[in-house]
Amino acid sequence: MNDFSRYLSIHKTEKFRKPRSKNPFTFSFRVVLSIMPYVRASSHPLVAHKISILRNKNTKPKQIRELMHEIGQLLAYEATADLPLKTAELQQSPLGSYSSVEIEPKIGLVPILRSGISFVNALQELIPTARILHLGIFREKISLQPVEYYNKLPSEPNVDQVIVLEPMIATGGTAIAAVSILKDWGIKSKIKFITTVASRQGLDNLHKKHPDVEVFVGVIDEILDDHGYIVPGLGDAGDRLFDTPSA
Ligand code: URA
Repeated sequence: MNDFSRYLSIHKTEKFRKPRSKNPFTFSFRVVLSIMPYVRASSHPLVAHKISILRNKNTKPKQIRELMHEIGQLLAYEATADLPLKTAELQQSPLGSYSSVEIEPKIGLVPILRSGISFVNALQELIPTARILHLGIFREKISLQPVEYYNKLPSEPNVDQVIVLEPMIATGGTAIAAVSILKDWGIKSKIKFITTVASRQGLDNLHKKHPDVEVFVGVIDEILDDHGYIVPGLGDAGDRLFDTPSA
């Protein structure tokens, strides 16, 4: 019996015998959430609706980019909910004075090339003062090991908090490598991820290596195939976003 079935057998409460949703994905998703407190899976109906269209193999690159942008903003809303505010100057509205507030930390957005680019404008619209710190990491096709090929981090950290933009967490290898790079660079605060689809195994792997990282995810899929692709997933996110069908 693996950990997951042991968990289920121990927790066969009335709530789990009669799931609120008739959708088996939603049911397993709720259970997974309860054993993954570091994962913040969106329960927003708009996110679920948009991911359904994103998954569809007939959805075209233009719409894929638009959907990724919209999902990025919805997830960003949740990922930024705990940002501290500082009081700025006293300002005047047309009818009186008020003390204005602004986001305190300097935010760094870290898109993982290629597909992370699809979230950049989405988050920059919400946080116009954010710095964009590109990281290029690809998965070697046979070993599935992450290979860093581009790094635009300055020599010293010049941001207080980072949000990593990575639309897919499959094996977790790229995510683990990105967090290690950011910690070595000197990021001390909690690192957050915004990701559209993650596999449960990838989230587990990331958590084992970096338990302090928080992931804001649109949906969790159960299956990871032998090539490291999430099933049903989206397919290759980079190819679908940038219309570069795999050879
Ligand atoms: N990267 C993708 O783009 N898709 C997957 O399914 C896994 C990794």
